[in-house]
Amino acid sequence: MRTAEVVIVGGGVVGASAAYHLAARGARDVLVLERGARPGAGSTGRATGGFRAQFGTEVNVRLSMLSREKLLRFEEETGVDPGFLQRGYLFVATGEAELDALVAAQSVQHECGLLEARALTAEEVARLNPALNTEGVAGGVYCPTDGFVRPLEIMRGYAEAAARLGARFEYGVSLEGVEVDANGRVRTLRTSGGEVSAGVVVNAAGAWAAEVGRLAGVEIPVTPLRRQIAVTRPTELLPEEMPMTIYAGDGFHLRVRDGRVLLLWPDEPPHGADPFETDVDEEWLAAVVSKARARVPCLGAAVIDRAACRAGVYEMSPDRHALLGPAPGLENFYLANGSSGHGVMHSPALGQLLAEHILDGDAHTLDVHALRPTRFAEGRANTGAALL
Ligand SMILES: Cc1cc2nc3c(=O)[nH]c(=O)nc-3n(C[C@H](O)[C@H](O)[C@H](O)COP(=O)(O)OP(=O)(O)OC[C@H]3O[C@@H](n4cnc5c(N)ncnc54)[C@H](O)[C@@H]3O)c2cc1C
Repeated sequence: MRTAEVVIVGGGVVGASAAYHLAARGARDVLVLERGARPGAGSTGRATGGFRAQFGTEVNVRLSMLSREKLLRFEEETGVDPGFLQRGYLFVATGEAELDALVAAQSVQHECGLLEARALTAEEVARLNPALNTEGVAGGVYCPTDGFVRPLEIMRGYAEAAARLGARFEYGVSLEGVEVDANGRVRTLRTSGGEVSAGVVVNAAGAWAAEVGRLAGVEIPVTPLRRQIAVTRPTELLPEEMPMTIYAGDGFHLRVRDGRVLLLWPDEPPHGADPFETDVDEEWLAAVVSKARARVPCLGAAVIDRAACRAGVYEMSPDRHALLGPAPGLENFYLANGSSGHGVMHSPALGQLLAEHILDGDAHTLDVHALRPTRFAEGRANTGAALL
């Protein structure tokens, strides 16, 4: 039987970051099992690459600020350019209640030291993004140090740097069973590539975290939520340097990436719909295009590239915050799950904090008590504006 000091289940951006941070701290024998035949098979390969620190809870703001610091020295650390472009995030409010909620979240951001986040009048919104139809816009908020990253490059950077430090990545290998002893310790993993005796196991299985948890007999409250993206053909209708622009009311947002406009609108999927369907729905596509044309009139001339439109899954937790730390009832089974659509931007911080949990007994760079997996059973889920 093979052995490993730490086995990480899931080789997406979170698993790769965990592997790198463990190996960099001296864990000698880290094995990552990824059931996809190639890297990026899960949500990481579908993400649009938004990065922001504008959240409504202290823990999320601080996770972003730590990640930002790490992204700024990512290339030096891993040898790979994460594509971090600080082009800002602009939240647009179309009513006073929306504006009040954005400004209330900003006071949390300011308390965390994100002083560059600021409130905007409708005129300032128009100056920051002149392509918008500002009829009905009440104002907004903006943070110039938010922006964009390249999800697959962050994953590659961490995976390659981890491999140089001795971590092993096995693709096309699926976790199929978990043996837990009478003391609540995971001992042996049954995989499609044979049995592995594990000292510590990390669940980094993204939207499939609950499935992996069930193999070990733990309920993990993470569910897949389908999210769709419409993509235009290459166009110069909007500038590449446009900030990510998000409508606070319905979450519609758009950005320009590699000369194409990406349009997103987080709709409520119909009951019973398959969350893993990878093509977009025609009705959704018509709705998102109509929103785009009403809000950004120049997009009336944009042409949708139907073949480039796609869907993926968010890994939702009940309070839209990550679960980080030991799983309830299992002392050597750790969770790094449930980032709820923010897993790429938070992956640098989550990997570091997870390594601290495993190697030092607790995370200490940041206070992440709010992310403990037991909070739901304690009735202490996070509250506060998630800001999508
Ligand atoms: C449309 C869309 C847009 C997004 N935009 C953003 C964004 O702008 N910014 C942002 O931060 N995030 C964004 N996200 C969310 C982001 O993609 C996720 O939060 C992030 O990728 C989660 O990383 P992960 O490593 O946890 O999961 P994944 O990348 O899903 O990795 C988990 C891996 O586990 C593997 N796995 C599952 N079960 C097993 C098993 N039994 N055995 C072995 N392997 C297994 C899967 O194959 C998968 O590769 C977006 C997501 C979508 C769908």
